[in-house]
Amino acid sequence: MSVIVLVDPATGETVGTSPVQGPAEVDKAVRVARERVREGIWSARPVRERGAVLHRLADLVERDADHLAGLDSRQSGRPITEVRENDLPGAVESLHWFAGAVDKLTSPVTGGPNGGTGHALSLTLLEPVGVGAAILPWNYPLAMAAWKVGPALAAGNSLLLKPAEATPGSALHLAELAREAGLPDGALTVLTGTGADTGAALAGHPDIDAISFTGSTTAGAAILRAAADSGFKRVTLEMGGKNPQVVFPDAVRGVGPGEFDRLLDHVVESAFLSSGQNCTAGSRILVHEDVAEELLSALLERVATLTVGDPADPATRLGPLISAGARDRVHGLVLRAVAAGARVLTGGTPCPGPGFGYPATVLVDVAAGAEIEREEVFGPVVTVSTFRTESGVVARANDTRYGLAASVWTRDVDRALRLARSLDAGIVSINAYSEGDVATPFGGFGSSGFGAPEKSLEAFAQWTRRKAVWLHAGGSPA
Ligand code: NAD
Repeated sequence: MSVIVLVDPATGETVGTSPVQGPAEVDKAVRVARERVREGIWSARPVRERGAVLHRLADLVERDADHLAGLDSRQSGRPITEVRENDLPGAVESLHWFAGAVDKLTSPVTGGPNGGTGHALSLTLLEPVGVGAAILPWNYPLAMAAWKVGPALAAGNSLLLKPAEATPGSALHLAELAREAGLPDGALTVLTGTGADTGAALAGHPDIDAISFTGSTTAGAAILRAAADSGFKRVTLEMGGKNPQVVFPDAVRGVGPGEFDRLLDHVVESAFLSSGQNCTAGSRILVHEDVAEELLSALLERVATLTVGDPADPATRLGPLISAGARDRVHGLVLRAVAAGARVLTGGTPCPGPGFGYPATVLVDVAAGAEIEREEVFGPVVTVSTFRTESGVVARANDTRYGLAASVWTRDVDRALRLARSLDAGIVSINAYSEGDVATPFGGFGSSGFGAPEKSLEAFAQWTRRKAVWLHAGGSPA
């Protein structure tokens, strides 16, 4: 079996290996998962018992939070404080929420064509889909796993979980905890490996019923094609983003004490959280020309405090990028932007190392429609451009194939609601950068994805099938 070499993004040093489980191992795991479905050992277990197992799993994740946070931080290079404060509580909450939500699912009873007063009623049965696969990105390994494992297992499916190449640790530990929580063997199997071997084998396996993917748009397209070519499976895709942050003058001038600082906190977090390696990163700031200077100078002051540090240091807010390849790709985008006329105000040169650091970078003078404004950078690079009119900024904000998230900063509620309607994004935050709550659906439009959203009761749509059962009722009295 071949292996993936695991590299510490902070030092560039090899720290271990991870096995590549190819088509043969995938096929074996699918057979076991299918057997569990046939036996009904998990799928037919009373729904509250399934919920109880998942609540226990959430408690065990909380028990092992430090270990899990350490794994995700070391393998992804994301700052330990960020992982500990965001990902871990988020994962625990998601597992508890889906565990507690599954027995609240109801389905309609409807009448026949005569309105139900006569001879027929239809019941909608909600059943597990069967065998599912979840393919994860490297940037939020445990958090993304929890978003998928929670509803898939709560609904009674068997699940095959494929972590990203660089970050297998937390998924493997999660599977051990699931066993400790009482999940039957084979109901959750982790398959490590590459996209080309393991991921493609899952996407193309004819006996997998549903696949939930989070990752790049390129891989999402390949998965969709493979799902169709292998006899169809239901597919949910959560992919990249190129998310605008739109700032109007009334959010900068004449605001209450602390409000401008709060705006800056959110704008900076949106652009640079996880070094911008975040699908909802607000990597395009569009600011009204009347307040552009004010915003830009305050932004540069903040950015100057963001230096790339050791992810293991609790004080670090900006870690390295995931790999040398990612750093070179980000730098290539910056160089091409400059060649096309953009100006670098800060950053723009890779850190000397060790590791794969790239500094927080701010670009201005970016032409509308430029590559850097339309394509996902997935790095700590933000463009700042000005606008004059509301219609102009909406057109510019929507000028990308992605449609994941957007932020709007204004105190004018009418304008805020107009923009919420006219921006092509699955998540619009007004006066905030927020990805919301586990009870709220999360998903994008266009090349950012489609299918059942993550989080919320709607996430169960990916993992349940609906069966209409017609019942003849109310025949003549004997
Ligand atoms: P990636 O697409 O390179 O890899 C994601 C996963 O897909 C990995 O497990 C990989 O092995 C697998 N994969 C790759 N090619 C495959 C194929 N042909 N068939 C099956 N599986 C395949 O993405 P990444 O670099 O890990 O993550 C970064 C991307 O993820 C960014 O574009 C980011 O925006 C996106 N992302 C989106 C969300 C969201 O919720 N919308 C959340 C996090 C990350």
